[in-house]
Amino acid sequence: MRVYLDNAATTPLDKEVFDTMAPFMLEHFGNPSSIHSHGREVRSAIEKARKTVATLLNTSPAEVFFTSGGTEADNAAIVCTCRSLGIKHAISTKLEHHAVLHTMEMLEKSGDVQVSYLRHDERGVLDLEHLEELLASQPRTLVSIMHANNEIGTLNDIQTIGEICRKYDAIFHSDTVQTMGHYKHDLQQLGANFIVGSAHKFHGPKGVGFLYCDAGTKIQPLIQGGAQERNMRGGTENVYGIIGLAKAMEIAYRDMGEHARHIQGLKDRMVHKLREQLEDVSFNGMSEFGDKSLYTVLNVSLPASDINEMLLFSLDINKISASGGSACSSGANAGSHVLRALGTDPARGNIRFSFSKYNTAEEIDYAVETLAKMYKKIPA
Ligand code: PLP
Repeated sequence: MRVYLDNAATTPLDKEVFDTMAPFMLEHFGNPSSIHSHGREVRSAIEKARKTVATLLNTSPAEVFFTSGGTEADNAAIVCTCRSLGIKHAISTKLEHHAVLHTMEMLEKSGDVQVSYLRHDERGVLDLEHLEELLASQPRTLVSIMHANNEIGTLNDIQTIGEICRKYDAIFHSDTVQTMGHYKHDLQQLGANFIVGSAHKFHGPKGVGFLYCDAGTKIQPLIQGGAQERNMRGGTENVYGIIGLAKAMEIAYRDMGEHARHIQGLKDRMVHKLREQLEDVSFNGMSEFGDKSLYTVLNVSLPASDINEMLLFSLDINKISASGGSACSSGANAGSHVLRALGTDPARGNIRFSFSKYNTAEEIDYAVETLAKMYKKIPA
């Protein structure tokens, strides 16, 4: 059995999505900026895709801009807000994905922006009173807080954060990469200026995403070039990517309830079986609590042991793909800035399992049995 439990890093492409994309690789190859019929048919497909995304998010197509993925969309929201609107103060958290964290650090290093980081507890729950305190004492601010953490799964209450931001006239960007396609976002309800999506996190293709930018927030483009994306992002569009993104999102919304139930069931099964078959197992962040954490992510804390060094490698030998944190970190504990910020014990085996609609109960059982065998080697 070969088991893929690293769906927060990327998900397999849905065959239905591939079938929708394929004609745009072979038959419909025109450049969407060309005015002849080859170009026009592709332009019309892109605009249809934009309308699909906008409708699902309950917003207008004029507020959806296609990008090369979540990283670019996060960069555009943060960098362009600071540059275009002259924002000098930002609030974020040390638990953000590097797409946000490193962008904030760059703006701080260049002296353009001063960044304040929100306090959080050892489970990654943010202190929203601190957010109010910071906002009350600062000039117009950009707030960048993710919806769900990609490593530990902790969900932030972005509805309330959006309301706080509105109260203080702050610009609010939320990195919604991990929840897009898994939770419904209603932009008429959510007070965010920017949210983002990345197709490969919900069974779409890699290298394509989008930025939602509300019509009232006027920013300049991050990437200079042609007039594509209504002058907001130069460069010939990733046509088949965009077609695939819209299809993947349509499927995700269509089947969301069923998939959420299936995946939550797998996660609950894993929590239960791990507790049953292993001693001294716990869960990082809020990942064991259904409504407070992403149903696709379970971050497990295994007992301190000399096998932890080789934990991911040992799982890999047993044909189980999991992760120590975000896709950019390697060893089990090595690169996780999130676990470090939470003060997690590095001697323990901290490992992220993340699930998709394609996983099965048998795969979960196999992963738990494999871990149980590995940890039986620990002397009592
Ligand atoms: N933000 C979060 C929370 C993510 O999990 C990821 C990907 O892992 C990204 C941003 C980056 O998205 P992309 O891979 O599309 O650049």
